[in-house]
Amino acid sequence: MNQVGKERVLTGDRVTGKLHLGHYAGSLQNRVHLQNKYDTMILLADIQALTTHFERPESISVHLREVALDYLAAGVDPNQATIFVQSMVPEIAELTVFFSMFVTVNALRHNPTVKAESKGSGLDELYYGFLGYPVSQAADIAFCKATVVPAGEDQLPHLELARKVTRRFNELYRPVFPEPRALISDSPRLVGTDGNAKMSKSLGNAIELASSSEELALKVRRAVTDPARVRKHDPGHPEVCPIYAYHKVFGADQAPEIRENCERGTIGCTECKRRITLTLDLLLEPMRERRARYAGKPDLVDEILIVGTRRARGIAKETLAEVREAMGLDYF
Ligand code: ATP
Ligand code: MG
Repeated sequence: MNQVGKERVLTGDRVTGKLHLGHYAGSLQNRVHLQNKYDTMILLADIQALTTHFERPESISVHLREVALDYLAAGVDPNQATIFVQSMVPEIAELTVFFSMFVTVNALRHNPTVKAESKGSGLDELYYGFLGYPVSQAADIAFCKATVVPAGEDQLPHLELARKVTRRFNELYRPVFPEPRALISDSPRLVGTDGNAKMSKSLGNAIELASSSEELALKVRRAVTDPARVRKHDPGHPEVCPIYAYHKVFGADQAPEIRENCERGTIGCTECKRRITLTLDLLLEPMRERRARYAGKPDLVDEILIVGTRRARGIAKETLAEVREAMGLDYF
């Protein structure tokens, strides 16, 4: 519990590009639902973006505003949730350094998400900052003493590390941190339009929340379907089809009927795609309206980030004072 008597939620996104349906299903939707029940902190992870984008930092400020607009468009209410910028709360970096003293390189090397991402990151080598980003994520969660972290399932190994690190800190010095728990959504990993297991900003297989109706229709038209289905009346295998996955997540009511007809070969891929386009268009339409409202007021968006970051910084200063005291580093 914090000063407003609510448990605290921490989540966030790397500011590496526009958010997509995977973010919505995996975590953003949950954040919107939770925002009046929990004290919700949402982190624009610009430092974590640098782990793969350190050669082109100029893209980060653009993405920062895009992701902020994505939040507001998706229904995050700035009067309830605190949206803040990671690099502007330097106490998080300080806490990362303290935590890094008792995290082993082996634990990081064996982290399955780090392993999978380092293969797909496009980086020629495994960099220290990249290898260590789960430690920085532990600090993101710990600095504000968050107890609930809504995230996709790729984040579970990181959450486990965050739990270990905070437990270790508490044992070594003095209990300062609560143990965070993950809140995994009903659709923890949304498949990409190319059939890749994860829709991801960096894989080019995403349907962005900011898509216009035309862009949406095009992405759906180009999406892969069941490769075994060559002719319209061939029986389909919905479980291997990304389009069916989207029906299940975003149009649960019609999914059983789609499934039956696909398996029987009585609905073609074109019709199935037409229907998911309609469903998704309905989901995105109110987001487009909210986005347009905020996009016309860039100063207001900046103000939201300034106020949010100021609040996060205040919390961080208090926690770091406790941390230094617990470690005996409060010299004068
Ligand atoms: P990048 O490719 O730059 O890493 P990303 O698309 O993986 O981007 P992140 O910013 O790394 O997005 O992830 C932010 C949050 O969104 C995490 O909680 C993650 O689990 C969730 N998330 C991302 N992609 C998906 C997906 N396809 N399905 C479900 N959740 C997702
Ligand atoms: Mg990622």
